[in-house]
Amino acid sequence: MGEGDGAGFQPPQKQEQEQWMERALTMAKEALENGEVPVGCLMVYRNEILGQGRNEVNETKNATRHAEMVAIDQVLKWCHQKGRDRKEVFEHTVLYVTVEPCIMCAAALRLLNIPLVVYGCQNERFGGCGSVLNISQDDLLYTGTPFQCLGGYRAEEAVELLKTFYKAENPNAPKSKARKKH
Ligand SMILES: [Zn+2]
Repeated sequence: MGEGDGAGFQPPQKQEQEQWMERALTMAKEALENGEVPVGCLMVYRNEILGQGRNEVNETKNATRHAEMVAIDQVLKWCHQKGRDRKEVFEHTVLYVTVEPCIMCAAALRLLNIPLVVYGCQNERFGGCGSVLNISQDDLLYTGTPFQCLGGYRAEEAVELLKTFYKAENPNAPKSKARKKH
């Protein structure tokens, strides 16, 4: 029973999922401490972390450097260094991320054929797994393959981090321009 998707992908046990989410949350906190949108993520391939990222948009001044993109680049680098087939690797990689991937990242995950995303809270502004668009599951013939999503892990903590960040970003706050740290 439970043939999966035919590619031999086994979804992780719940306990395992919780462990990885703990680490993703730690990365999100690190993002917050560095003045970034607090999102953290891990890419786990057969029980091994191949990539981990946190949002780096402000630091890099590049709006595409979301946590997922940072982690994807690390996995690609790993595949290159180890001479591994990136298709096989991504097809067996689970993404753990504290916030629902945005539309851009959800499309990237489809193009890489990632089978499963475990996430924390919803992304009300830009969510690509149901909140704004449903990139994860929609019938998009030429954009990779749909992926499964399991949301709600440690969602309250993930939301709390976002609230803390956006409170500090409030344009009415008198010193919103005093954020640069160097
Ligand atoms: Zn994103």
